[in-house]
Amino acid sequence: VTQVPQQAGFIGLGNMGGRMTRRLVSAGIWVTGYDVRDGLAAAAGAVPAGSVEDVVAASEVVLLSLPDSKAVEAVVLGEDGVLAAGRAGQTVVDLSTAAPESTIRLHGLLAGRGIDYVDAGISGGAAAAEKGSLTVMAGASPGVLERLAWVFSPIASKVFAIGGPGSGHSVKLLNNFLNAVSLAATAEVMVAAKLGGLDLHVLLDVLNSSSGVNFATLNRFPRIVDGDYLEGGLTSRLMTKDIALYIDHTRALGAPSLNAAGPLASFGLASNLGYADQISNRVVDAIGDVAGGVRLHAPREA
Ligand code: NAD
Repeated sequence: VTQVPQQAGFIGLGNMGGRMTRRLVSAGIWVTGYDVRDGLAAAAGAVPAGSVEDVVAASEVVLLSLPDSKAVEAVVLGEDGVLAAGRAGQTVVDLSTAAPESTIRLHGLLAGRGIDYVDAGISGGAAAAEKGSLTVMAGASPGVLERLAWVFSPIASKVFAIGGPGSGHSVKLLNNFLNAVSLAATAEVMVAAKLGGLDLHVLLDVLNSSSGVNFATLNRFPRIVDGDYLEGGLTSRLMTKDIALYIDHTRALGAPSLNAAGPLASFGLASNLGYADQISNRVVDAIGDVAGGVRLHAPREA
């Protein structure tokens, strides 16, 4: 019987990583944490480490929750990074939304040193991270995921084994593109409805009983119309990154992409109007700004 390790390292303790770390710590796992921003490891209940190298030295499994492939590559390939400091038998679980092409390359480089690299996209946002009910889509075999069950069970309610290296991050980009399309399109519709003087609660009830229903109409706008933007989730900056990654990915695959322009413009607008580091739901305020200052929750001006 193999000894189940109960020590994990966590690098990138922002909105998602901080919440996942707290869940792991609450489950009794000893977590060593590192973020370039000071104080986040302790705030999440982890043992603070001074560097990536220190996390790798202390942990059999190293989890990453970083902004993008550039940051992932810095942590994995940098001086004293995971590749340089790692040992055979270790596993890296990359929970970031990252470019599958980069992920595949990192997988190969780490495999050369006997280190497993699991690309594990996550969905559900900050709320699911808080509750430990994320959905994980992993580029790994069911056997590897079984071995990692102790890491995933405190943070996720569903873990899908997608396939080979990069497949988890690929599925994540496909999902997020649909999320971007539906959020941007619903924001536009809501602003139009407000300008048209419609009752937004009634509109949402109709949409949610009709073919326009989507995640934003079900889970976001019923709160946004009352001024609750569900702060703490994916920012417009990261959403724009995800759409750009989707476009790069479809181009690499030779797949047509006909619907990226709308969400790219919408979240780009939000970023440029000052909402870059706020939740992407603020896209509705950006669209409202260019519509003359429309706010869904504000009383209509006479
Ligand atoms: P975030 O910006 O809040 O957190 C990222 C953290 O990484 C920051 O604290 C940052 O300081 C740290 N970091 C950056 N470079 C680093 C480095 N070289 N070494 C150590 N730490 C470094 O972002 P987030 O919202 O937590 O998202 C993290 C990842 O998860 C992103 O790829 C995002 O697209 C993805 N994601 C986010 C959500 C969401 O709802 N927020 C949902 C699913 C997936």
